[in-house]
Amino acid sequence: MIRRKAAAAALGVAAAALLAACASDEGSESDESGSMGGDDSMMAGDFPEGSTMAALAEAGTITIGTKFDQPLFGLKPPSGDPVGFDVSIGKIIAGELGIDEDSIEWVETVSANREPFIEDGSVDIVVATYTINDDRKELVSFAGPYYNAGQALMVTVDNEDIMSPDDLAGKKVCSVEGSTPAANIEENYPDAELSLFAAYTDCLEPLRNGQVDVVTTDNVILAGYVDQYPDDFKVVGEPFTEEPYGIGLAHDDTEFRMWINDVLEEIFADGRWLEAWTENVGDILPEPEVPTVDRYEN
Ligand code: GLU
Repeated sequence: MIRRKAAAAALGVAAAALLAACASDEGSESDESGSMGGDDSMMAGDFPEGSTMAALAEAGTITIGTKFDQPLFGLKPPSGDPVGFDVSIGKIIAGELGIDEDSIEWVETVSANREPFIEDGSVDIVVATYTINDDRKELVSFAGPYYNAGQALMVTVDNEDIMSPDDLAGKKVCSVEGSTPAANIEENYPDAELSLFAAYTDCLEPLRNGQVDVVTTDNVILAGYVDQYPDDFKVVGEPFTEEPYGIGLAHDDTEFRMWINDVLEEIFADGRWLEAWTENVGDILPEPEVPTVDRYEN
């Protein structure tokens, strides 16, 4: 269980207010990068009767949960739809259902509300730097992985004393409720002083002004913040966990899960996966190895 610390709540207020001020649902500029239109040839009748694919194709719309504050993977500009690698993967899946990207409803998911949003039907799928693991598989199902990340550490550029998780004893560590990196610190680095917020951007100002010493989450998320603020932050050391990113969907919807797995294998093979990577992340991070889809038994 991840405990929220009172001090963390106070630290988060300013950052949360700033984020809220920046966020706006208005505007309708369409995103040029990574755009994949719906496959007009796909119709509900092309999918098994009663399947989730048929229902979504029939509805002509899909609700996708993603991050709104993570550059490279899921970042929502002040107006218009989010952009990033996760967003492009979501658009490809929608397109394979015959759903145009303008008909996708994007919903912000933070780390802690991904399972609840899938369980209560607020979203059809989640594509949000979402690590596949056994605890989560009790509540939701996962297609994928479509990328393999790893937990890492980010400090201010002038920090010389934190190089690896072994240096965290007595340090103020910032992470996010409901995330696997936070759980890892709680379980395996109990001498670290962990503060938990709702979203990783809530950790940036506290790191900048010295209220915390280090931010921890997946290497690719931290790389996005370093890319945004290269004069302020740096990533140190090597990734020290495995975080296979999956597409979250309703528990035990095996037909839908296997169909998304088919789509992933198709785009791994035909170049669309690499194209999505290159457009969103290719200038910042090295080309990844093609992941192997895990069609686990329930
Ligand atoms: N991949 C990790 C997780 O799913 C950390 C990133 C995140 O919180 O989205 O918990």
